[in-house]
Amino acid sequence: MEKGKVIILVAPSGSGKTTLARRLFKDFDTIKFSVSATTRPPRTYEEDGKHYYFLSDADFDQKVGSKEFLEWEEFYGGKKYGTLRSEVDKKLNSGYFVLLDIEVKGAVNVKEIYGDESLALFIQPPSIDVLKQRLIDRGTEDDETLALRLQRAEKELTYADRFDQVIINDDLDSAYEEVKEAVIKFMNQN
Ligand code: ADP
Ligand code: 5GP
Repeated sequence: MEKGKVIILVAPSGSGKTTLARRLFKDFDTIKFSVSATTRPPRTYEEDGKHYYFLSDADFDQKVGSKEFLEWEEFYGGKKYGTLRSEVDKKLNSGYFVLLDIEVKGAVNVKEIYGDESLALFIQPPSIDVLKQRLIDRGTEDDETLALRLQRAEKELTYADRFDQVIINDDLDSAYEEVKEAVIKFMNQN
């Protein structure tokens, strides 16, 4: 069986990565999600092992020590997020495309590791104001984490041109068509 390849959706929090990823999983059963580990608390609808592996700080640090992460970053307020080598490898070795939903620094690192065997799509919100409104409407952040995420978003937007393609997520259907087209092209490359 041929080894799979890596698809990265990268963007500031609230740009629409999860929404676009969900559509990809519906359309392509050859794409599997890489479940990351994090030390942030779960949201009400999130399940351990499905959305994230929710770890204590000590458990996360232990995995850092034993080199279980392909990459990891501290995101805000000391909360850590990391891509587990085991998650990516088992899916790649089974011939799947593995989708990573990660922030910019982690995405730069993964792109360096996988090079042309990876596709990194930067999902850009139409503006910071729209991003803020979407995060407010999503209803997952308190005032403090909303402010931290927006502060970080301004910086993350300056990374856009480091990735393979920038897709502006204004109208969701149009953005998804662009994502889908890029993914199909990547899948058909040798
Ligand atoms: P991320 O995974 O990048 O943090 P989400 O996929 O959770 O972002 O999207 C943030 C919020 O914005 C969600 O409530 C989602 O339903 C909404 N959203 C995503 N894309 C659009 C869009 N094109 N137009 C309007 N709302 C959107
Ligand atoms: P959230 O708390 O909204 O789920 O995620 C916050 C940010 O962390 C998002 O930009 C998300 O893409 C990113 N993220 C999730 N998992 C990982 C990971 O394994 N590594 C890195 N570097 N970022 C991640």
